[in-house]
Amino acid sequence: MEDLGCPFRVGTGFDVHKLVLGRKLVLCGVHIPYAKGLEGHSDADVAVHALMDALLGALALGDIGHLFPDTDAKYKGIDSMLLLTDVMQLVRAKGWKVGNVDITIAAQAPKLASYILDMRSKLAQTLGVALDCVSVKATTTEHLGFVGREEGIAAQAVVLLRNN
Ligand code: MG
Repeated sequence: MEDLGCPFRVGTGFDVHKLVLGRKLVLCGVHIPYAKGLEGHSDADVAVHALMDALLGALALGDIGHLFPDTDAKYKGIDSMLLLTDVMQLVRAKGWKVGNVDITIAAQAPKLASYILDMRSKLAQTLGVALDCVSVKATTTEHLGFVGREEGIAAQAVVLLRNN
């Protein structure tokens, strides 16, 4: 039985990708010049992956691994913003809209501050919301753990959906 009683749904997402030489670094659809990039089947945009899982989680629709399997050649090297567009189509088809999203990217390096506004703008456009409904924050882990050793980047997302 589908519960249509609550006008809001909340979802969370989390993802990690490994930093390697010879890959482009793309976060929230923005290319960030850096010596290393994230490894993955798609463009490995870890922040957009966390966001998509949060959107899917809010509606209990599974996860991106289920929706876009990494065994499928058509997703090889794909721009994750295109996958986000697909997820948003699903969200809209179910009768939901994004209220707001809040993303935290954990990266020891590079510094992301100067890219944050561009990231928020790109996401707001794809999500169909105003800029002030999209928060992107960056943090280090104070040189602790795999993020601190610059072996990978992690991202966490929270999303609120509202009924039309
Ligand atoms: Mg991922």
